[in-house]
Amino acid sequence: MRNFNRSLWLETTPITSYETFRGELKTDVAVIGGGIVGITTAYLLKKAGVRVTLLESNRICEGNTANTTAKITSLHDVFYTKITENYGKDSAAQYGLANEKAIRKIREIIEENKIECDFKEQINVIYTLLEENLPMLHEEVRIARSIGLPARFIEESSLPFDIKGGVCFDNQAQFHPRKYLLALAKKIEGEECHIFENSRVVNLENEDKGYKVITKEGTVYASNVVVATHFPIFDRYGLYFTKMHAERSYALGLTAPDFPLDGMYKSYENPARSFRTQEVNGQQYIILGGEGHRTGEKDNTQECYNNLFEYAKVVYDGKFDLHFKWSAQDMIPLDDIPYIGQYGKNTEGLYVATGFKKWGMSNSMVAAMIITDEIMGKINEHRDIFSARRFDLAPSIMELGGNVKEATKNIIAARLNNTTKTLEDLKIGEGTHIIYNGEKVGAYKDEEGKIYIVDIVCKHLGCELHFNDAEKSWDCPCHGSRYTIRGEIIEAPTTEPIKFIQL
Ligand SMILES: Cc1cc2nc3c(=O)[nH]c(=O)nc-3n(C[C@H](O)[C@H](O)[C@H](O)COP(=O)(O)OP(=O)(O)OC[C@H]3O[C@@H](n4cnc5c(N)ncnc54)[C@H](O)[C@@H]3O)c2cc1C
Repeated sequence: MRNFNRSLWLETTPITSYETFRGELKTDVAVIGGGIVGITTAYLLKKAGVRVTLLESNRICEGNTANTTAKITSLHDVFYTKITENYGKDSAAQYGLANEKAIRKIREIIEENKIECDFKEQINVIYTLLEENLPMLHEEVRIARSIGLPARFIEESSLPFDIKGGVCFDNQAQFHPRKYLLALAKKIEGEECHIFENSRVVNLENEDKGYKVITKEGTVYASNVVVATHFPIFDRYGLYFTKMHAERSYALGLTAPDFPLDGMYKSYENPARSFRTQEVNGQQYIILGGEGHRTGEKDNTQECYNNLFEYAKVVYDGKFDLHFKWSAQDMIPLDDIPYIGQYGKNTEGLYVATGFKKWGMSNSMVAAMIITDEIMGKINEHRDIFSARRFDLAPSIMELGGNVKEATKNIIAARLNNTTKTLEDLKIGEGTHIIYNGEKVGAYKDEEGKIYIVDIVCKHLGCELHFNDAEKSWDCPCHGSRYTIRGEIIEAPTTEPIKFIQL
């Protein structure tokens, strides 16, 4: 299998080069993070006449948004039955109709700005291969229709195998996320609005009527701040570290000309399998996804790519070529509903949008619309169900306990010298915990035999990092921070690198 992990979206778009932020700047709104949430929010705020400054730690749209599968849909697994059970029909309607509105808004922005991003209307389907799951899917269709969503039941599909049935939503869409967002970013710059790259935010301080947003090389003074860093980076408010965990998933970009596919699909059963197509330069690709697991918890992550590849061999009868493979992670909130709105108690002017449970394309637009309305002093009709300060513990207390227990276990593990392995035991291609100079550290030996050693205590909250062999990174099972084999930051919530130990 191809030994190079980079998404189709990154491979088919240019890299960006915005300036690094240095010095001091006053603005109305500082947006931290340049993924789909940050860019969309900054765009809507600018349209509303607000001065906005977006600060990105690396390059815009190279985080999880660059590694998504980019289905734009309000059908988020079999979810309307669950949300109706937990919160009632009105809340289910609020969630679904907000996402439908978001799909229409994305289309409107693309048309208004004439953005060429392969936007295409599609059906989205959650299918089952098992007779016993049909009643559940019929019920989902019934509930979705009753709250005004474009749902119907289907018994056949263009997938390369027979299905028993599926929930199908009409008028959904797909696009090339980087083509869309890089074009949108260009609309943000100018008229006292800015985008800065390589400008990691490391701290936030209260300031008279606003905030001081502190980066490595400067300070932005802002009346309002939007934290769009995927996992929120400020732990002292909101307690998001108790309310979410990260899960990774994998994708392959294939060509299989004998198996034309129409629509977007995901299995109801696990292990999840996801399908959609994407045309690039006249070539039709199939994006096959799946193999989700909690970040930092799987020993052999390369197996996830292998499993998808083996699955492709079966469904495409061996007649396909592999062109791309990539993986990413998303945040899973306690009750599967994103946290959007005011960041925490007593944090007026500080906003957050996170916890999209792998449905962030439309939900990011929901977030951008709600937060823009809040900043403009308007009440958004959908805001309550997404409120970042809601916390009805009743349906989710067990999982809250689960997140805290997981963190405690990993914080303790980081302090135990519970391995006997040493440098001499390290095999080519292996990354693991070893004892080095009397301390437990993380060590990786590359294909040439070169060894990289890092501290294995996450700088976020002190959990023990685990090696991700598919992506050659050190990942935190508690909250999803990730580091390179040299200890540099790949992913928030950490804002500090781990120590790279010279041999
Ligand atoms: C495999 C996979 C497939 C998916 N497929 C779909 C799909 O088909 N449809 C769908 O709706 N959703 C899908 N999702 C979910 C969706 O991709 C995500 O919800 C969405 O991309 C998250 O966007 P974001 O802007 O929150 O995060 P990101 O894109 O990760 O952006 C966060 C940004 O913040 C920056 N940052 C972090 N810390 C700092 C700091 N201290 N200072 C400044 N900047 C910082 C990061 O560098 C990054 O650029 C999928 C997710 C996965 C994992």
